[in-house]
Amino acid sequence: MNDIKLALLGSQGAGKSAVLVRFLTRRFIGEYASNATRAVPQGSGARCIMEEPVDWADGFVVVYNISDRTSFIDAEDILRQIREARVDNCKGEVDVPVCLLGNKRDLCHARQVSEDEGRCLARGSRCHFQEVSAAESYQDIAGLFTQLIRQVMEH
Ligand code: GDP
Repeated sequence: MNDIKLALLGSQGAGKSAVLVRFLTRRFIGEYASNATRAVPQGSGARCIMEEPVDWADGFVVVYNISDRTSFIDAEDILRQIREARVDNCKGEVDVPVCLLGNKRDLCHARQVSEDEGRCLARGSRCHFQEVSAAESYQDIAGLFTQLIRQVMEH
């Protein structure tokens, strides 16, 4: 296999850049400049629509913020769009590996989405699920990307 292309999707502020930077550098971007990733579906609060089909991706990481219910609703929408795109492309049988990521686990005092809800959404979407904190931990995020990459390679 050549390069593996993973798409990180999710509403603005969910932590896509922080997750990616944590994985690549082991560090937390904190309040430094973000925009390491481009948010394909834009904005939280408005209905979340992919501006363009992400047909180049070998795998998807859909990120939401456990302390922002709107980002979870956006994630639900994105998972549905990924599913529909698979069918549209006649790739119905080919399950592109997807992972649902509940980020900002460190903000549990402000939690708006329970872990069970995340697990349940993932089960319904036939994808892997994990809660992580890009602010606090490298291990979970590294494990998750490693597993996703392995899945893509076995595909
Ligand atoms: P993006 O728009 O999805 O790329 O989101 P960013 O990665 O830019 O993160 C948005 C904000 O949330 C930034 O201020 C980050 O520092 C912060 N952030 C990202 N991940 C976490 C996390 O796990 N915990 C906390 N407390 N803040 C985070």
